[in-house]
Amino acid sequence: MKEYDVIVVGAGPAGSSAAKAASRHSARVIMIEEHPVIGAPRHCPGRLHSSSFTREILDGIDPRVIVCEYRSRRYFAPSGKVVKETPLPPGNVFQVQRDEFDRELARQAARAGAEIVLNTRVTGLYKEKGLIRGVTTTSADMPVVHARVVIDASGTKGRLSGIPREEGLTMPGETAFGGILVELVGIHDLEPGIIETYLGETFEIGIGVLWTKNQYSGLMGFRSMKGYHKLLSSDSFVGRKFKDARPIQIFGNMVGSAAGIKLEKPVKPNLILAGDAAGFTSITHGIVSGRHAGEVAAVAVRESDTSETSLLRYVEKCRESGLYKVTLSWSPRLVSLQGHSDAEIEALIPEMLAHNELHYGDVWDF
Ligand SMILES: Cc1cc2nc3c(=O)[nH]c(=O)nc-3n(C[C@H](O)[C@H](O)[C@H](O)COP(=O)(O)OP(=O)(O)OC[C@H]3O[C@@H](n4cnc5c(N)ncnc54)[C@H](O)[C@@H]3O)c2cc1C
Repeated sequence: MKEYDVIVVGAGPAGSSAAKAASRHSARVIMIEEHPVIGAPRHCPGRLHSSSFTREILDGIDPRVIVCEYRSRRYFAPSGKVVKETPLPPGNVFQVQRDEFDRELARQAARAGAEIVLNTRVTGLYKEKGLIRGVTTTSADMPVVHARVVIDASGTKGRLSGIPREEGLTMPGETAFGGILVELVGIHDLEPGIIETYLGETFEIGIGVLWTKNQYSGLMGFRSMKGYHKLLSSDSFVGRKFKDARPIQIFGNMVGSAAGIKLEKPVKPNLILAGDAAGFTSITHGIVSGRHAGEVAAVAVRESDTSETSLLRYVEKCRESGLYKVTLSWSPRLVSLQGHSDAEIEALIPEMLAHNELHYGDVWDF
């Protein structure tokens, strides 16, 4: 049976980055993905949020996966009046074609030397005398895979029901709710490079954000399909703007109730959690945490010390990179617009502007 130094569970941004980093540090790596196609089903709209890592992440990526760069956020009152515009620093906030982007990261891992196995689900950890020695899988060819370190990068689903929970690394009572994203074409009066933010009762939470793709299309998130239908049937300013919009793709994903809540100790002897599995939520957090996980795992194997103490270097590195910073950056006033009528929101806007409360970064800015 083939032995590996590092097994990576899941080929999302965290998994591929971990596999690449570990391979680059001379580890023998296998990355196991349950789906037959990396990046599908699509996980999210692919907004690369503002961070000091953006340039470096995009550096090695085929530029064809970059859909657009954003230069400002524009805020609309329920009446349609533009009440504020915030410029974004150049080279910082982008939309990427998320499914192809994930495959690009996997290509980088493969080029670095990682083996990739698709269509194979990891069913649990394989242990000998209570110690993690690998994983069990659904594959008849490799029901057990042995390695010195397992990096679990299985995302929110994994965190809620897979290895992280089974190993008691998650918090009690964690759940998930759905989020829906719709790519719409035929929206009126769009300007490429502008993120449009609409305030108004049309939206379930009192605010809607359109990640513009070009002059006629963009991506918008909803809590439910009800919210999407409400927008299309509304006779408000924003309803008129979207009245001819047609869906090109609808995709959903699980948002963990603990999304963005980072585990203080995402390691055990021979095990590291990376990306969403550890609460490092966002593409960027996934990539950076995965990179640290891969590097720490490879060095630990080389030094023949895969104890918890040795793997805790991963947490230090994540801390140094700023991954543990609190990143919620919506102004509290913006979050509390839910349930207000258009007239009430119009009346609140001058006060919000005066107190600099009409702003948001991205939930994951750091
Ligand atoms: C609705 C929504 C919108 C979002 N929008 C954005 C955004 O615009 N920008 C942004 O930066 N972030 C966004 N996010 C967050 C972002 O999608 C995640 O933080 C990111 O995908 C995490 O990467 P990951 O590699 O940790 O996990 P994932 O991308 O979830 O990858 C996990 C991988 O593991 C595989 N897997 C799971 N279990 C197993 C198993 N047992 N065996 C084998 N393989 C397994 C899965 O198939 C998957 O490929 C959004 C999330 C949601 C829910």
